[in-house]
Amino acid sequence: MDVNEHRLWSLLSEVNEFGALETGGVERLAWTDSEIAAREWLAQRCRGEGLDVDYDEAGNVWAFAGSRPAVMLGSHLDTVPRGGRFDGALGIVSGLETLLSARETKTPGWDRLGLLCFTDEEGVRFGLGMTGSRALAGDIESDEVRSATTSDGIRLTDEMETAGFDPGSIGQVTSRRNDVSAYLEMHVEQGRRLERAGVAAGIVTGIVGLSHWRMDVIGEANHAGTTMAEDRRDALIPVAAAALEAQRTMRETEGLVATVGEAEVTSGATNIVPGHARASLDVRSLDERKIDEANDRIMAAARSTAERNGCELKIQETKRLHAAPMAPPVLDAMRAAARDLDVDAPEMPSMAGHDAMTLTKAGIDCGMVFVRSESGISHSPRENSSQADCVLGASLLATAALRLAWGS
Ligand SMILES: [Zn+2]
Repeated sequence: MDVNEHRLWSLLSEVNEFGALETGGVERLAWTDSEIAAREWLAQRCRGEGLDVDYDEAGNVWAFAGSRPAVMLGSHLDTVPRGGRFDGALGIVSGLETLLSARETKTPGWDRLGLLCFTDEEGVRFGLGMTGSRALAGDIESDEVRSATTSDGIRLTDEMETAGFDPGSIGQVTSRRNDVSAYLEMHVEQGRRLERAGVAAGIVTGIVGLSHWRMDVIGEANHAGTTMAEDRRDALIPVAAAALEAQRTMRETEGLVATVGEAEVTSGATNIVPGHARASLDVRSLDERKIDEANDRIMAAARSTAERNGCELKIQETKRLHAAPMAPPVLDAMRAAARDLDVDAPEMPSMAGHDAMTLTKAGIDCGMVFVRSESGISHSPRENSSQADCVLGASLLATAALRLAWGS
């Protein structure tokens, strides 16, 4: 099914009036006036089209074209500070456009489609992230919501109450799982794989798992002038070894990224041999076996370097998120949709987290379509995808959603 190109693009322009920046980007942080207004615009726009619309207790917006449960198309309308016009917003407007085009053309399955806009996907204000989808998945504690504040002390619960929501009722959102037969999302790729391949859109096979480690290296602080090489116990050297091994491992392992993103010499100075260093390691892959192997390899390099340099190495895994494979029936519908439209849509994992990750863990069948990001830039006013690419991605999403809805 082809979507209405003109309406898709004008919906995107309409929503991006909320929080528009002079730089060309947008800023709609979760539960700020502009983000609340954008969600309300969506609710009103859907009501105006005669869709069945409501908010749940987390502030997520739901709209249905007909019966429930429905194949829900969704994303988020919140952004990062000085964000782009596509991340989240494109998924929402392509979902709405799909509902409208399918209904107009009476394409079979049109009345089993819905739209779902999640709140606070980005997590920049309150440090939570994916709050709306976690509420739907039943994966959020009321304590977590109660204690969530911004860095300047604004409470999430106060923001929700001001907007007319009862944060104490957020646990009730899980009952809405009965309204969802599957969840599909179109999103900008936020990388350069599609651009390199020269194609407009791709099918996401899963969302990568992630492992975070903290390294602490204890050496011996000493005078940088008088301490000769053989007498040094330099705590920074094992961190450097880890960073280099992370780069080697990444280059030699298909579908894996590894980053030492934080490294610090504690109480360091120009003229002191580092006595204590701390660093982080972030490893991601769809294949968790590869994550474990990479961790082992990088930490082994840090450990042997620590031994050679007379340092003690302490390591600890601080975070582990399991990979979220997309559901086989949804993947099949997307592959069939690509054949229907005669488009080349390569399959690839998502290297960033999305709401679909949370929902997959709660047993909801999920799938995602990626649209080519210009120069791979995202979370920036320079984020861009061409109108033609967005239209092709939306048509792929619509065709897959209707195949699923009709078959269900
Ligand atoms: Zn996003």
